[in-house]
Amino acid sequence: MPNASLLDSSLKGLASALAAKTISSVELTRLFLERIGSLNAVLNAFITVDAERSLAQAGSADAARASGSASPLAGIPVAHKDIFCTRGLLTTCGSKMLSNFVSPYDAHVIERFAAAGAVLLGKTNMDEFAMGSSSETSWFGPVKNPWNTGCVPGGSSGGSAAAVAARLAPAATGTDTGGSIRQPAALTGICGIKPTYGVVSRYGMIAFASSLDQGGPMARSAEDLAMLMNVMAGHDPRDSTSLARERENYARDLDRPLEGLRIGLPKEYFGDGVDAEVAARVQEAIREFERLGARTLEVTLPNTRLSVPAYYVLAPAEASSNLSRFDGVRYGHRAANYDNLLEMYRNSRAEGFGAEVKRRILIGTYVLSAGYYDAYYLQAQKLRRLVARDFTAAFRDCDLIMGPTAPGTAFPLGAKTGDPVQMYLIDIFTIAVNLAGLPGMSIPCGFDARGLPVGLQLIGNYFSEARMLAAAHRYQLVTDWHTRVPKETPL
Ligand code: GLN
Repeated sequence: MPNASLLDSSLKGLASALAAKTISSVELTRLFLERIGSLNAVLNAFITVDAERSLAQAGSADAARASGSASPLAGIPVAHKDIFCTRGLLTTCGSKMLSNFVSPYDAHVIERFAAAGAVLLGKTNMDEFAMGSSSETSWFGPVKNPWNTGCVPGGSSGGSAAAVAARLAPAATGTDTGGSIRQPAALTGICGIKPTYGVVSRYGMIAFASSLDQGGPMARSAEDLAMLMNVMAGHDPRDSTSLARERENYARDLDRPLEGLRIGLPKEYFGDGVDAEVAARVQEAIREFERLGARTLEVTLPNTRLSVPAYYVLAPAEASSNLSRFDGVRYGHRAANYDNLLEMYRNSRAEGFGAEVKRRILIGTYVLSAGYYDAYYLQAQKLRRLVARDFTAAFRDCDLIMGPTAPGTAFPLGAKTGDPVQMYLIDIFTIAVNLAGLPGMSIPCGFDARGLPVGLQLIGNYFSEARMLAAAHRYQLVTDWHTRVPKETPL
């Protein structure tokens, strides 16, 4: 296979090229490392690349294959969001606070990919501690969108999204607390799925808001996502919220036709505030699903508008607790100058955290304080329940919910950094899914007039990932949005 087709290949295609020995894992890994070498200076998608380590892993994958053992992902390079701890490798979470942190252990997700023989291609850039929607809060500088390098790639998993979109990696991992897999996937024209809460272990995934955080895969097709889910998902006793369920084959339904599928269209997702071109592309995609045999009906999620305010109480509350561990004592940044212990804590945290992280810690501490707990935190918990109930009611009438992933397409760098509330509102359609713990997914469904990708969101009931992936796959068999290569990073 010529290099351009390898860079552009599906995971299945790479697996068969490796199986047929038309290429070795070492050669394939080198190819992606070279592409990173030539494009990362522009995109800033990776924080850490350790070519020697990746090539050594690739060598082991080739040796394992030669001795007859190989799983489907064996020898395939995968990039990981720099929120997953990787033993012996820098794990920064996009923060100055962890800019010197070499993890002594691997996250569960990292272990799973290693056990599957995948090659760790590098660690991707992200919003600091996954707080953001544009990958601009990273201490390592903003990530650029390969469709227009003057625009953001979305966030917080923007490095993973840009890497996959620009063919710097065939697949990547991300995490999604309020939209951080789906929204960057939408803004860069790739696919991403946030599984049901508890399906992917959070062990070794640096905590932001533990009751909302969930890891998931990012790739160029639903079929690729299914392969990655088969590796990432599974019970892990080290995460108390990891679900002990039978192992599933997430690709099992891919051939299932769409006849009879009932798609709910929430009227709240198609009203004011959605860019006209986004709405048009999403409607066209829904027509395509109807042509494929699905039925659509209107549903209502009346508490949608409460989800952003509830999230911005709950997520900061959990973050303020989770981030208290970064104190300059055990690991991470420690201030150089201080006179006593308290000053050491203060200076370390003042220097180590960026503005958005500090804002969240302040809000979180405030809403949890004795005088305000009932007024804010408890109220927000009640809203969370109402938001979740909306979905329970809607799923009585439909199998999947569809709508836009984000209200607009990629925006220019710096356009929203001065206005946190504008930035928060980008997640209006994704956050409710995390509050309810449901699986959500984004797939590309077209472009706006400026050539920027539009994402279609699919929301399923608990544990319906296989069904969602199947629906997306049927759509991708008859459309080619997911195959388009970004203009600024041609092959
Ligand atoms: N943009 C949201 C936030 O800033 C969600 C981020 C995420 O999912 N990690 O909190």
